[in-house]
Amino acid sequence: MNIMAQYGADERLLSLSLSYPALTLSRVTAQHRNQYTIITELGDAPAEVSGKLRHEALSTEDYPAVGDFVLARLPDTDGGIGFAILQQVMPRKSAFIRKAAGSTHDTQVVAANIDIAFLCMSLNENYNIRRLERYLAVAWESGATPVVLLTKADLCERPAEQLAQVRALAAGADVLTTSILDPAARQTILSLVPSGVTAAFLGSSGVGKSSIINLLTEDVAMATAEISRVGKGRHTTTHRQLLPVVGGGVVIDTPGMRELGVDTIDLRAAFADIDALAAMCRFSDCRHGNEPGCVVRAALENGTLDKRRLENYHKLQREARYDGLACRQRETRKREILFGAKKSANKAGRPEPQERS
Ligand code: GDP
Repeated sequence: MNIMAQYGADERLLSLSLSYPALTLSRVTAQHRNQYTIITELGDAPAEVSGKLRHEALSTEDYPAVGDFVLARLPDTDGGIGFAILQQVMPRKSAFIRKAAGSTHDTQVVAANIDIAFLCMSLNENYNIRRLERYLAVAWESGATPVVLLTKADLCERPAEQLAQVRALAAGADVLTTSILDPAARQTILSLVPSGVTAAFLGSSGVGKSSIINLLTEDVAMATAEISRVGKGRHTTTHRQLLPVVGGGVVIDTPGMRELGVDTIDLRAAFADIDALAAMCRFSDCRHGNEPGCVVRAALENGTLDKRRLENYHKLQREARYDGLACRQRETRKREILFGAKKSANKAGRPEPQERS
């Protein structure tokens, strides 16, 4: 099997890249600011984006991210010195997105083309159903398929009870219990990341993500570090953030994946059941309080909808709204400083305050 196929390039990408004989299909394996490392059929190479790509980018989302497939111009292999130049980012099948650092509404891609997002929550002190709902929302929004991993099963006395609770909540996502002490759990996870599949691990610090990633990638990372036949002579110090898995696909492990919040996510995917109920309420703007014909309240009363789940839905909506509001306030303040208060108020379309007569 060709290396790029192992690294997740499908038939469509492979044949598309043949239309650009001067360029080489690559995948971004690490990013540090504006320096990248890519993998190609010939091995690893340091890379940077072309002036054209930079010029044509409308937002930070248009720049390559870890996991992106990119058409690259490779450096001269005889001299072997220099960077590969990233010319064009191929269409993404999924993307984890967050607000760009230091920006109020520009967004950036944290990782791209992830097939499976393992949402990790430990069965001991980290167990928190509401947190899991957030991660499910983030995963569905990205386009990846979530799989819930309930970790540290060896530290839990009644994993079956929690497993049932999580299965009820995570409709549409597989739920597994794991422990690093259990070799069968490793095999199960490995079987979900065969050649061509890209996985990522999300979850709070300490739940066991690194332990699982190490188990899945041991022996392989070192072997691939030695394959480097292009771009010799100049080295980036970036650690690989896309790692090959034993006998199969790859895992993306970037620091940014661990900091994803609710600010840019779409709650509809994670709370589709509540939306479906709300769509049947008599009033389209029903707030599910005392309005007549409220189907959401009826579901609460007959026990088909969990009260805490609805509360969490409202809480996440408030957080997302607050975040949007805080963003707009910062933006208005910035405009006031730049253009003066009056101009900014007019720009926002608000009438000037009228004095009482
Ligand atoms: P991360 O921050 O999510 O990457 O978590 P780590 O993989 O660094 O794990 C945090 C701690 O939990 C480490 O001391 C691990 O040895 C321990 N740990 C991880 N998985 C398990 C498990 O399945 N069972 C037990 N008992 N400990 C675990």
